[in-house]
Amino acid sequence: MRHMKILAFFAVAMFTITSCKKDVKQTVKEEISQETITMISKLGFSTNNVQKIDEGYLVEGDIILTDASLNETPASPKLRIAEVEQYNTFNLVTGTPRTITISTTGNISTRLSDGINTAIARYNAENLGLTFLRGGSNGGGTINVKLINTGQYIASSGFPSSGGNPYPTVNYSRLYQNYSLGFVATVIAHEVGHCIGFRHTDYMNRSFSCGTGGNEGQETTGVGAIHIPGTPTGPDAGSWMLACLSSSTDRPFNSNDKVALAYLY
Ligand SMILES: [Zn+2]
Repeated sequence: MRHMKILAFFAVAMFTITSCKKDVKQTVKEEISQETITMISKLGFSTNNVQKIDEGYLVEGDIILTDASLNETPASPKLRIAEVEQYNTFNLVTGTPRTITISTTGNISTRLSDGINTAIARYNAENLGLTFLRGGSNGGGTINVKLINTGQYIASSGFPSSGGNPYPTVNYSRLYQNYSLGFVATVIAHEVGHCIGFRHTDYMNRSFSCGTGGNEGQETTGVGAIHIPGTPTGPDAGSWMLACLSSSTDRPFNSNDKVALAYLY
């Protein structure tokens, strides 16, 4: 639960997450072998607060590394350019124009359902080569939002495959499904952003939105971080792909987000 990243809440004052933190972290750390830590490090990800989850390992607060992705050979390295900008992974969703359905699994709340629809509407308003459609409630979508029981994070997802498909799953913690519509929509849009290849806008210095933390790494190795042309070199406080948020956060796409989306898709 440590930073409640990831989208992690940095403003601890807003939440009373207290004494269990340390125990959770220590317990989790014991479950992860040094070999795995080394592999995560080789991929270039931060090894701080790596968490063992059902699908594999959670790094950077909301990025899932499966055993397969740990063993994947990185694509050819690219150069990163500046600091707080928009970044995409080496792999992107291909085959555009393309429709991506978003299904759900679990007994989701009306608020979470509305949040998914709001996130879909935000993407579709940009007239991208990706069109998002709401799928059913028994999974099966291109991306499935799965309600899970966890206090370790708010939501999580991963990056596109080397075959050009979106990451297929967004895990969403039951604890956060009745937060404000703006919050839920922002979290879903953020996780879908990862699924289609966006990294954190502040991945080079996550303390920008989280208050603590540094470079998440992996700019030239592993999944990669390629600067998206036309996005700014200065801090971008409103971006939906910032690593952390608070309970009152709502981040519809800002002008730079729109540039980044239009550039990639
Ligand atoms: Zn994220």
